[in-house]
Amino acid sequence: MLTLSPPAQGADPRLSIIVPCYQEELVLQAFHQRMRAVIATLPVSCELLYINDGSRDGTAALLRHFERWESARALHLSRNFGKEAAIRAGIDHARGQAVVLIDADLQDPPELIADMVRHWLQGYDVVNMQRSRRAGDTWLKRTTARLYYRIMHRLVARGTLPEEVSDFRLIGPAPLAALRAMDERAGLFKGLVGWMGFRSIELPYERVERAAGETKWNYPALLGLAAESVLAFSRRPLRCFSFLSLGLLLVCVTWMLAALFAGSFSAVHLLLGVGGVLCLGVAMVGEYLGATLFEVKRRPHYLLQTAPPDSVETLHPVGRGERRPA
Ligand code: UDP
Ligand code: MG
Repeated sequence: MLTLSPPAQGADPRLSIIVPCYQEELVLQAFHQRMRAVIATLPVSCELLYINDGSRDGTAALLRHFERWESARALHLSRNFGKEAAIRAGIDHARGQAVVLIDADLQDPPELIADMVRHWLQGYDVVNMQRSRRAGDTWLKRTTARLYYRIMHRLVARGTLPEEVSDFRLIGPAPLAALRAMDERAGLFKGLVGWMGFRSIELPYERVERAAGETKWNYPALLGLAAESVLAFSRRPLRCFSFLSLGLLLVCVTWMLAALFAGSFSAVHLLLGVGGVLCLGVAMVGEYLGATLFEVKRRPHYLLQTAPPDSVETLHPVGRGERRPA
């Protein structure tokens, strides 16, 4: 059992708590209060790093207010880039040796961070929080999530996407350095952290309902993310088509030979069948090609504003080389 006294919170934190925020003015005040109380009890020095993902409500003003507290910082993205990009911005700019990722809507109870930190100090590199209950999610969302994990487990390497592990996790120094070195455009964080391995542990927790405000997710966005995760981590759909083509070739040759001998060869059915499968195959190759195009372009994951939204003068693109300000 560790009995460390609370450390001084200063400019050289050991832990950065990264909070992506998009239109969260209704819940941020409550989140910040709870987080301050939690940080006061942690045995390591912390910074609270808010990433404003292009919010157009009062989020920016609230974050500016929070920054009066020496342990809080806020970065403002130039527009809404999505949660993945916001997390990437946080990881790039975190000053701590380790990071915790947490949603702003209090669905992930901040009090659990103490337990995560304890496991980190005991030697784990990654501490994953695993949902044992999904309060606030509809039946449809729970069912599609289950289906998603079932399909993904068949497509990706074991351990890449542990079931019901959300973004609420602690990432220690070694995996953090590895994550920063990976410069993938479509690098779904959940998958990247699992893919890296390291010494990790899953801690069960109950995901409660959103404290206020509304979810920013919708089904087209979730479907897009699911497609991204397949493209980013699996070549099995392409491999399936290679095997399917081989099977088709064998069937066609056998059928043609049989028809030639019997004298009743009709190519219409054969063409329809083969054409349908080919169309699907070409579409799939196109998807992978599209994903490759995005990687090749090397466009930044996000753009950062040098000042909060109401006093914007210039936009500052963040390249990979300048990720951690001194
Ligand atoms: N979020 C973000 N950018 C977005 C959408 C969401 O930074 O484009 C943040 C949001 O403010 C919250 C977290 O990501 O802190 C999770 O979002 P949400 O609660 O809407 O997702 P859900 O919990 O319903 O999956
Ligand atoms: Mg939420």
